[in-house]
Amino acid sequence: MLISGGRLVDPSQPLDARRDLRIDAGVVVEIGEHLTPREGEPVYDASGAVVAPGFIDMHVHLREPGYPEKETIATGTLAALRGGFTAVACMPNTNPALDDPAVLAILADLVARDARCRVYPVGAITRGRKGEAAVDFTALARAGAVAFSDDGNTVMNARVLRDAALDAAAIDGVFISHAEDEHLKGNAVMHEGVVSRALGLPGSPAVAEDVIVARDLLIGAETGKRWHIAHLSTRGALDALRHARAHGSDATCEVTPHHLLLTDETIRTSGAAGKVNPPLRDASDARALRDAVREGTIDVFATDHAPHTAAEKSGDLLHAAVGFTGLEVAVAAYALALPDLPLLRFVELISTAPARVLGVPGGTLRAGSPADVTIFADRPWTIDPSSFASKGKSTPFAGMRVPRRVLATIVGGELYRVPDAP
Ligand SMILES: [Zn+2]
Repeated sequence: MLISGGRLVDPSQPLDARRDLRIDAGVVVEIGEHLTPREGEPVYDASGAVVAPGFIDMHVHLREPGYPEKETIATGTLAALRGGFTAVACMPNTNPALDDPAVLAILADLVARDARCRVYPVGAITRGRKGEAAVDFTALARAGAVAFSDDGNTVMNARVLRDAALDAAAIDGVFISHAEDEHLKGNAVMHEGVVSRALGLPGSPAVAEDVIVARDLLIGAETGKRWHIAHLSTRGALDALRHARAHGSDATCEVTPHHLLLTDETIRTSGAAGKVNPPLRDASDARALRDAVREGTIDVFATDHAPHTAAEKSGDLLHAAVGFTGLEVAVAAYALALPDLPLLRFVELISTAPARVLGVPGGTLRAGSPADVTIFADRPWTIDPSSFASKGKSTPFAGMRVPRRVLATIVGGELYRVPDAP
């Protein structure tokens, strides 16, 4: 297939110019100016659009095995395609948890049968994600785990975490921290601040995240284990990361669209739709995160796509499920949050960098690479959750007018056109 007339943006080369892209047998074979279609070769007209290496979301909850009412491999990976993602890493808080090669084998069967994009499993750090006994890292890595995390929970026992990091130090997969101190967080349902006090709701202070990020970066430095901070959301966590890097750490971090764009004020209007862990912070945190993206402190964009049923997200904030769908709004939300972000940097954050952090293929359109491609354009649209492929329809972004949308996604040479794309 020839993808012609697009603006090709590939940070791995680096390249930002009008180029044609030829793919054949699932692989990128040629990039050039004014390539002529061969006889019978399909042509995708990408005029006015951006052609980039396929987006990779390293933080997704696909919910299988265990919670098919929330999401399935089929619906979650279709949502990924529609959102521009050609690969996702799926988190281990399934039922059973991804803590054993036998469970990874069940997941691999589901993925082989149902997945529409590439799926890389994240193995648990502790058995059952209980924070007590480490998993068998070697066995999980052999069974396909590309990283390790108890995401959803923090490994609260520092000794368990340090022993696990020492155990896994020689294994490639990065450790990913979900950073919320359980005791400081208590029964919080939102960020602790002016809004939580006004609403009379229990809040989780920013320091609940800061202390765990600082602790985990110290343990990473001391054990030599490569580390990644998930959904970083506070100024204090940024400070801890800068401090660690000043002392030689190569730790990385990600930020979500909702933490860049929304604040605890959103809870006043969105209620349970805006309930998420870590919680939407205050405006100064969101501003600090956007600045940190621009100055390079943030490495990766990740959605923390966490779908639930409508029933679980309805009702009051105290009882509603935590998290919301993200794959189909992310690209638009990033553009709204950071309208001045250069495209090379945007594609780096959402494709090249996550491939590097996870150590998986992709993030590049160099000849010989897998033909994973995302085609998008700066065209405004309005977010309508009823059109989502994801089973999770609840999002605080509902009804928002956004400036960028995905037109098509190509996985291993197979083209998917997003329905109703302008
Ligand atoms: Zn998490």
